[in-house]
Amino acid sequence: MSVRIAKNSGFCFGVKRAIKIALEAAKENHDIVTLGPIIHNPQMVEKMEKEGIHLVNDISQLNKRPTIIRSHGVDKNVLEKLRQEGIEIINATCPYVSKTQQYAQKLSENGYQIIIMGDKTHPEVIALKSYVEGEAIIVKKAYEIKNKKFKNVGVISQTTRNIEDFQDLVKTLIPLCEELHVINTICHATSIRQKSTLELARESDLMIVVGGKNSSNTKMLAKISKKFIETFHIEISYEIEKKWFKNRSKIGITAGASTPDWIIVEVYNKIIKCMGNINKKVDKVEDIPGFKEEM
Ligand code: SF4
Repeated sequence: MSVRIAKNSGFCFGVKRAIKIALEAAKENHDIVTLGPIIHNPQMVEKMEKEGIHLVNDISQLNKRPTIIRSHGVDKNVLEKLRQEGIEIINATCPYVSKTQQYAQKLSENGYQIIIMGDKTHPEVIALKSYVEGEAIIVKKAYEIKNKKFKNVGVISQTTRNIEDFQDLVKTLIPLCEELHVINTICHATSIRQKSTLELARESDLMIVVGGKNSSNTKMLAKISKKFIETFHIEISYEIEKKWFKNRSKIGITAGASTPDWIIVEVYNKIIKCMGNINKKVDKVEDIPGFKEEM
């Protein structure tokens, strides 16, 4: 019997950085806000609230308080409005997200029709399209652009999408346009989490995916895992049911880039308990078999 975690599970560089920036800002000022959840994990948002970092979903609720821009970034017009109103901006946008915004701006300024692969309701994509001169086309899958014709196209992706879908989109676009400029903006942290999930799912007879039900990258891990094996997507250990582990011997765990370590540890400890305390409890994620620190 084994319970293992996918290498490269849990917080990515951009999320760790955003949380560090927010907590440092909270030491200086006890009433600051994040515009939208700091990360897509309700338990972490609750924890931040206790540190004096409050969640608001609309700029009308800011009341001039210092405002953290989360790792997904924000619409550039909103940023401009905050500047004009003299609100202190604590910018925790992930550098990889900022880079994608710069690509979108530059390509569109150079006359390329921008096509973004992503979810048009996701905050990162909403922010990203504000950097595009003119109208961006947003698609989730390649078939959405079939039968269309373009001149010059610049194609980029939401940082947390799946590389196979992006390759499909590029292949579909080649015969549809005169010139195609491809920039792979899928973040490395996303790709390696997807790859390690796939590898572990292939070797397991049950997978547990841990992370916010509103987290795009966690949902993508669950989708990948489900292609191979029965998979449960949970947010916290309380959702785990003992009956899931009946007649199972190889359990895999994976966690999205916005899943805090303490939640992963609780999940691991609950699973080994459900399986008859097959291993010792752990106190930190690094002690879970299979974990490998991201470089
Ligand atoms: S997944 Fe990548 S782009 Fe998104 S916050 Fe993490 S490091 Fe940044």
